[in-house]
Amino acid sequence: MLAEVKRSIGYSWPAPVPPLSNDMTLETQDLKKAGLKATLPRLRILHILETGDRRHFSAEDVYKALLEAGEDVGLATVYRVLTQFEGAGLVTRHHFEGGHSVFELNQGTHHDHLVCVRCARIVEFVDNVIEDRQVDIAHRHGFSITDHALYLYGVCQKCQEGQSREP
Ligand SMILES: [Zn+2]
Ligand SMILES: [Zn+2]
Repeated sequence: MLAEVKRSIGYSWPAPVPPLSNDMTLETQDLKKAGLKATLPRLRILHILETGDRRHFSAEDVYKALLEAGEDVGLATVYRVLTQFEGAGLVTRHHFEGGHSVFELNQGTHHDHLVCVRCARIVEFVDNVIEDRQVDIAHRHGFSITDHALYLYGVCQKCQEGQSREP
């Protein structure tokens, strides 16, 4: 499969060829389900989002992870692919204060975010009281909610204790 993909998009491997951690079957299926062709940059980027050590990635985080894996995918391509993933509903983009935006795989479960303004650490939470209150408030104003995003900005515990590096 990969040989075909490589040929179809004219992708050339950097030398030495990095070992594949799996055969990308799952990533190929996920792309197809989202209506996207399985090109190598898309497969590589999806693989990082699905197997990375975190759930929220900036485009630069994805770019750095690709570099560390020996992959030759430029930052502009990373941005373009992430935007395509967003359009296909594969990922959600969060625009945080200060122009910082991150992407996370859309796993269909709603949650809100706490964002550290010093180190950009992100914590996910769901609070049913907050969720219900938002529905009540919307109803009171004649709205039915289609979506919402709640971001709480602050300083995480590690930064308060001086344990995190300033960005
Ligand atoms: Zn912090
Ligand atoms: Zn999240």
